[in-house]
Amino acid sequence: MKTIKLHDKEFRPFISAKEIDFAVTNMAEQLAKDLKDEVPVFVGILNGSFMLVSDFVKKYPKPCEVTFIKLASYEGVKSTEDIQRLIGLTQDLTGRTVVILEDIIDTGNTLNEIHRIFKNENVKQLLIATLFYKPEAYKKDFKLHYIGKEIPNKFIVGYGLDYDGLGRDLPEVYQLKTTQHMTNLVLFGPPGAGKGTQA
Ligand code: 5GP
Ligand code: MG
Ligand code: MG
Repeated sequence: MKTIKLHDKEFRPFISAKEIDFAVTNMAEQLAKDLKDEVPVFVGILNGSFMLVSDFVKKYPKPCEVTFIKLASYEGVKSTEDIQRLIGLTQDLTGRTVVILEDIIDTGNTLNEIHRIFKNENVKQLLIATLFYKPEAYKKDFKLHYIGKEIPNKFIVGYGLDYDGLGRDLPEVYQLKTTQHMTNLVLFGPPGAGKGTQA
């Protein structure tokens, strides 16, 4: 792994594919243990979660169902709380154990929308599993049931996560190289903010 350039920014190696694999395996095995004979419906949040979902269900050692919803958030000029539903739920989840699979939980605004979506679905339980979590950025009170890895409040790419469209295909995770004067920019949103970005 070495430093990479995407568009105008440089990123340094941060989390290896091996470390990601370890975190995903742990989450999948712990969840399977906790759910006993319950057959969960995994709901991946597109786009960012596509790689996690693919790996997670392969590690999950019991029967399960998989579906996706697609959300987009807008940053910069518009509030990040303005989350759009591009593809919604297409099946009845009444009485089911639903496990949300998220690539990353940052401010929690997307999670807020997820809770809104599931409020009227009469599910048996809604569990949240996220591969990455930025505790310093999280502004909500929703419980996070399964966390792969806590990370600092810095912008990352790879393993499904993009910088303005690039980087989703990378099997490992990279962190934006920052100088001191860029720290505020990173704290208040990913570079490219101001355009609509897809989760
Ligand atoms: P939220 O702030 O709503 O918790 O996160 C919104 C979305 O922003 C996430 O689903 C994710 O797609 C994106 N996001 C948050 N933090 C990062 C990051 O560090 N890198 C990238 N590429 N996307 C992020
Ligand atoms: Mg994005
Ligand atoms: Mg996401």
